[in-house]
Amino acid sequence: MALINENFLKLSESYLFTEIARKVNAYKEEHPKADIISLGIGDVTQPLAPAVIEALYKATDEMAVAATFRGYGPERGYDFLREAIVENDFRARDIDIEADEVFVSDGAKSDTGNFQELLSANCVVSVTDPVYPVYIDANTMAGREIVKLPCTAENGFVPELPRKHVDVIYLCYPNNPTGTTLTKEQLKVWVDYAICENALIFYDAAYEAYIQSEDVPHSIYEIPDAKQCAVEFHSYSKTAGFTGIRCGYTVVPKALKVPLNKLWNRRQSTKFNGTSYLAQRAAEAIYTPEGKTQIKATIAYYMENARMMRDALTGMGFKVYGGIDAPYLWTQTPGNMTSWEFFDWMLHSAHVVCTPGVGFGAQGEGFVRLTAFGTHENTEKALRRIESKL
Ligand code: PLP
Repeated sequence: MALINENFLKLSESYLFTEIARKVNAYKEEHPKADIISLGIGDVTQPLAPAVIEALYKATDEMAVAATFRGYGPERGYDFLREAIVENDFRARDIDIEADEVFVSDGAKSDTGNFQELLSANCVVSVTDPVYPVYIDANTMAGREIVKLPCTAENGFVPELPRKHVDVIYLCYPNNPTGTTLTKEQLKVWVDYAICENALIFYDAAYEAYIQSEDVPHSIYEIPDAKQCAVEFHSYSKTAGFTGIRCGYTVVPKALKVPLNKLWNRRQSTKFNGTSYLAQRAAEAIYTPEGKTQIKATIAYYMENARMMRDALTGMGFKVYGGIDAPYLWTQTPGNMTSWEFFDWMLHSAHVVCTPGVGFGAQGEGFVRLTAFGTHENTEKALRRIESKL
């Protein structure tokens, strides 16, 4: 008889977004005329950059002709994209990463979820609380012990070093859900710890393109010696609106003390057949001069929403974190309301949807996550409505 992997039974119900959808749908049924605005979505709303669209058309035309048609691509991704990544995301920042350390993927969710497969089930893993749930779920499926590192208003959302030894540390900065960041100095503490403890850092840089502040690192490899201990995940989803196109990449340095570059290549060549040629040409286009200008403009559009939200909510008396170097605002609920109580109040009174912070971990209780990915019009309208209902 086939037995199931019992670790899957330990997964908590993925009930956050289902429960949000259930509550919103129930409210809509009772109030069909309510114009509900979502400030909860983690998906982008603005279209792809014209340079990306042009690259997609061109790649499609190539696929239509036998002489330029492409089938299976190279396992690590096409050279044209890996070279563009190395040049623009690393060399331009004086970081020395080589093309054979870059693995093109179909996005950061797969890689942040799958990379742990290279490690023993006995490794102890630590994650921040609150956290992007993929890191916890993937390691729960593998049966690993997970140590949670609280990130609270009191510690400025900067996790303290674990009290017991851990083998792997997942860090995500700029952070989803809190929208907060680490300075180079704060990140160095983690690199030093990892080197000293022979631990690995899995660094999720999915929101790197949103960084505005000078002292916030775009890559963990800005910290000396990080190549000995850190794997870094990138995504074009929020950088360039690729949530539907699907493309990202992972950097696995050859200098890692735990040698994983060859193993990841081996794993990928068995279980992954590459990112589509079209998606890789689309990604390449964001590194052209026009592409760079266009994606910057879209990020500026979202960050203007974040600024409006910060200013308006702070003006209304809310305590708001994040939203300066990230498209997320972590907002404390008023009057000791729980995350879900405040969610209900926002939905019923202001017809605005937010994401209850407790869905990202116990330390998220008393917070909600608001996102800047809406349109200016809806963001302004939602803020006016919240103010009028207070
Ligand atoms: N990492 C974090 C922290 C995210 O918030 C997300 C998406 O929301 C991802 C990774 C996944 O990104 P992708 O669309 O590239 O799979």
